Amino acid sequence: MLALQGDFREHAHVLTELGAHVVLVRRPAELESVDGLVIPGGESSVIDKLSRMFGVAGPLRAAIAGGLPVYGTCAGLIMLADTVLDAIEGQESFGGLDVVVRRNAFGSQNQSFETELVIPELGEQPVHAAFIRGPVVESVGPAAKVLASLPDGRVVAVEQGSLLGTSFHPEITGEHRFHEYFLRKVRARAA
Ligand code: GLN
Repeated sequence: MLALQGDFREHAHVLTELGAHVVLVRRPAELESVDGLVIPGGESSVIDKLSRMFGVAGPLRAAIAGGLPVYGTCAGLIMLADTVLDAIEGQESFGGLDVVVRRNAFGSQNQSFETELVIPELGEQPVHAAFIRGPVVESVGPAAKVLASLPDGRVVAVEQGSLLGTSFHPEITGEHRFHEYFLRKVRARAA
């Protein structure tokens, strides 16, 4: 669990309920000890700055390239995107997902809202998704796969090998299936 900034406690709670042993990662040594990493929602420009300051940005890029399973929600998805639009001056991402995301893409009227999403990979029951100043995936490259879109076609969940990203926050709505789906990737790789 990347614990530099954002709602990492909510994620840690869900992961612990699902039986995972959660390590709060702030330093390279902690990163080395984990089999998978969740990047929480929060503020991507701050997570970027702190990750460079704490020296985890470089090792995390290398770990992602080496196949470390990583799940990013909202700001976490921004950090996983290869290209970020409407970033602040000098803002960098870790990258890994072959997507272009736009920060704060829902505009002032609709910055925060909740909706139901049908995601066949997670079963028949729709996902209740909470969006909080979330990003939109504006384009999806050939390496990445769309997991969920809004009714208007805007992409809000993607997957690429061991990487998973959602524009919304399953950790705050009692939705555990994304974390379960992610933990299966982590366990498969650790085994
Ligand atoms: N708007 C935030 C950002 O750009 C993301 C918001 C969130 O994670 N809830 O990082």
